[in-house]
Amino acid sequence: MQERTVRGACPHDCPDTCSLVTTVIDTKAVRVAGNPAHRHTDGALCTKVSRYTERTYHPERILHPLRRVGPKGSGQFEPVDWDTALSDIARRLKDIAARDPQAIQPYSYAGTMGLVQGEGMAARFFHRLGAAHLDRTICAAAGGEALVQTLGGKLGMKVEFFAEAKLIVIWGSNSIASNLHFWRLAQQAKRDGARLVCIDPRRSETADKCHEHIALRPGTDAVLALALMHELIANDWLDHDYIAQHTLGWDALRERALQWPPERAAEVCGVPVQQIVDLARAYGTTKPAAIRLNYGMQRVRGGGNAVRAVACLPALVGAWRHRAGGFLLSASGHFPVDRAALHRPDLLAGRTPRTVNMSTIGDDLLREASPGFGPKIEALIVYNSNPVAVAPESGRVVKGFEREDLFTVVLEHFQTDTADYADYILPATTQLEHWDIHTSYGHTDVLLNRPAIAPVGQSRSNTDIFRALAARMGFDEPCFADDDETLCRTAFGSAVSFDQLLEHGFATLPLPEAPFAQGGFATASGRCEFFSAALDAQGQDGLPDHLPNFETAGSDPRHPLAMISPPARNFLNSSFVNVTSLRDIEGEPLLEIHATDAEVRGIHSGDVVRIFNSRGEYRCKAKVSARARPGVVNGLGIWWRKLGLDGTNVNQLTSQRLTDMGRGPVFYDCLVEVERT
Ligand code: SF4
Repeated sequence: MQERTVRGACPHDCPDTCSLVTTVIDTKAVRVAGNPAHRHTDGALCTKVSRYTERTYHPERILHPLRRVGPKGSGQFEPVDWDTALSDIARRLKDIAARDPQAIQPYSYAGTMGLVQGEGMAARFFHRLGAAHLDRTICAAAGGEALVQTLGGKLGMKVEFFAEAKLIVIWGSNSIASNLHFWRLAQQAKRDGARLVCIDPRRSETADKCHEHIALRPGTDAVLALALMHELIANDWLDHDYIAQHTLGWDALRERALQWPPERAAEVCGVPVQQIVDLARAYGTTKPAAIRLNYGMQRVRGGGNAVRAVACLPALVGAWRHRAGGFLLSASGHFPVDRAALHRPDLLAGRTPRTVNMSTIGDDLLREASPGFGPKIEALIVYNSNPVAVAPESGRVVKGFEREDLFTVVLEHFQTDTADYADYILPATTQLEHWDIHTSYGHTDVLLNRPAIAPVGQSRSNTDIFRALAARMGFDEPCFADDDETLCRTAFGSAVSFDQLLEHGFATLPLPEAPFAQGGFATASGRCEFFSAALDAQGQDGLPDHLPNFETAGSDPRHPLAMISPPARNFLNSSFVNVTSLRDIEGEPLLEIHATDAEVRGIHSGDVVRIFNSRGEYRCKAKVSARARPGVVNGLGIWWRKLGLDGTNVNQLTSQRLTDMGRGPVFYDCLVEVERT
């Protein structure tokens, strides 16, 4: 018996990007643990990934290529060999490409965050083919664009220094569930006397453990931020020198903020005036003060504006001067990834294919050819994503996937809701079975993932599948012969020591401790841009403002409740829902509803409820809970549709409208009514 350990990286869509140590006995992975040598991981993983071997050797893992034999969506397939599957797929793609390659649509997101198994070889393949581009907006587009327009990039304070902050505002994040390693730092700060404030419509597990919880209405975060500015101005808790030296547009922002006294803001946010006043005092007078934002709050019409408003706050009080002060939503812009070398846009050879937004895939799959849209989508290649479960307005998404004239290929580990609609399912490797290299959006270390075991069954890595397809399509450029280790080396070129990655599994970027202590923002002006000339030039408001939700509470008497759909603690988007031990912890799909809303509807915990709006209906069990605020219900996600009560999930209700910036989805901008069935 031979035992060895292999260092890797967690591939999931989580800001923590943990360093993994997999123990292998002979050829089998027996344990996946956190790497104690990696400071941020600190030897601990979340419950989900601690059970990674259960997922890897899951009895329902797809082990060979499958070809559809039943109607679309019926989930009936027959096994085929790789050669048959790849040859037939290549033949179908060639036929379509001969008419117009833009009718071929890749669809992928963060099923793996790895740079290589993500778009490493896939982008080369689709560029060479001339396929349509995909606007990958589904999670972070509004917030990301807001950061670019305010700070100049997805940049922020170094996460480790949150441990030294004296005030931590956790805004729109259930960190215990979705940013566990940050939460450990916040706990350390709390033990050292820091005050923790949680801002979230839901009384989350994180809110339970903070000193204060501000349960504002969904979509009112910009109002709260502007009211905080109002109080900072009124009480002169401003760092005038920092504002003068390192910001742009202060006079205009000042005027805007003065329109939002706490009394007015409290009405809109649905919170007590005193909570706003107290938070402003704490933020204006505590040093260092740090804000940890996450992406939940930007999933509404005005999500970009809201992130911009919050991102302005640290500059007003000079919080950036301290390494433990400032703001963090995403750190991913710090990483010097050589995307051109990896993705090879030169293979487009001057072509400029159309771009389809992944957040409107429901509508776009149902569109006919037109001069504005281009060709009808004829083929869909899905990898690292489960759009039938996760894309908004899933009734429309399902209709699109049901099209008999749509050729769908899905690269997957399991027969997900999306895979049920495939013409071919191609078995993909998991993180334990392939090479990859990772950035992070929650810390600033590069991580290398080495394969710990051989591919399970006949599974193949995404890169290998796209390489094989490229060969069958006749793409003979040398870049299609690059192996995965070469792709890993290409991702950062000489900017990161690959030897260090091979030796330790991670490498820390050499960054200043306080990135904006002396200004130096990455914007065109070099300043924190309260006023964005770029947004102004696009016809948008150059200053952050409150944009009410598309579906504002009280605007539709037929659907009086706002619904948000935060992740269930033991799932990660739609990953892990089929891991039995994790699903057992979650139990079943739930809707949290406040006692006052439940009472008037005669709803008790355990009742099956029908949640509905003009887009559709969804049934699940109700839980009368103080985690829901009055007027807002929480539909915990994202369950696989086929594992729910009636073959749907919460996205049956969400809309395909888009955010103010970044063309992102508005999952949390959704009115519903609930009734007992
Ligand atoms: S999901 Fe997040 S917390 Fe869990 S192991 Fe992965 S990176 Fe770490």
